[in-house]
Amino acid sequence: MAELVSDYFTAGWRERALACPCGWHGDSRAMAMELHDAVTDYACPACGNLLLIVSHPSLDQVRAAATAGNEEAMAQLAIIEEARARFPPDAA
Ligand SMILES: [Zn+2]
Repeated sequence: MAELVSDYFTAGWRERALACPCGWHGDSRAMAMELHDAVTDYACPACGNLLLIVSHPSLDQVRAAATAGNEEAMAQLAIIEEARARFPPDAA
């Protein structure tokens, strides 16, 4: 059963060690990462079992975390705002 991280900016999910039923255990940095539109999956590198699903943050979540002083969020927000300045979203 994969664990869901619904808030990307939750501290510590990268370092938290998870155990796979196959006997492998380790943290997300050792897992097989697969990027999707809305989430990133992390699977066991030994057997491919899905262990961790991390939701990508919404712009509001990035802003909130940046306002709260999260350094990764501040860096992401800077990238997002630069992209939006260069490619303004169409006015709907
Ligand atoms: Zn496994």
